[in-house]
Amino acid sequence: MEDCIFCKIIRGEIPCRKIFEDENVFAFLDIAKDFDGHILVIPKKHCKNILDCGAEELNLLMQGVQKVCSHLVNNCGYSGVNLVNCSGESAGQTVNHFHIHIFPRSEDDGEKVFPTLGGAKLSLEEMCEKLKIN
Ligand code: 5GP
Ligand code: ZN
Repeated sequence: MEDCIFCKIIRGEIPCRKIFEDENVFAFLDIAKDFDGHILVIPKKHCKNILDCGAEELNLLMQGVQKVCSHLVNNCGYSGVNLVNCSGESAGQTVNHFHIHIFPRSEDDGEKVFPTLGGAKLSLEEMCEKLKIN
């Protein structure tokens, strides 16, 4: 994809702080500086998000995510990770190249375990009826 900023990062046309690369995935520090060690892992083959990628690409991406996460915990002193993905504008996706955010965690990092949510409005029963796959 000619104009995609993450494709440009993969091609080396935009600089980044690279964490890991193999033939299928590319991992680099998020530029936001909102959390120490905030990493993005992306597939080298462009797709938009989880709704738009093939099973093989998804597998390869998640293998790369697992590799980075294992490295963070086994070699870098962290004890856990949060994974976040925004797929679609309504979900907050701002860059249209599939990416998984990794937040390396330690007991004393002072962050909440998960983003604070506003509370459910409907019952579990109603939601189950709406969402279950028959
Ligand atoms: P989204 O909101 O789509 O889930 O996440 C996009 C992420 O890409 C944001 O966290 C943003 O900081 C990051 N980002 C956007 N442009 C660049 C860039 O040029 N370089 C790097 N390293 N990260 C970027
Ligand atoms: Zn791209």
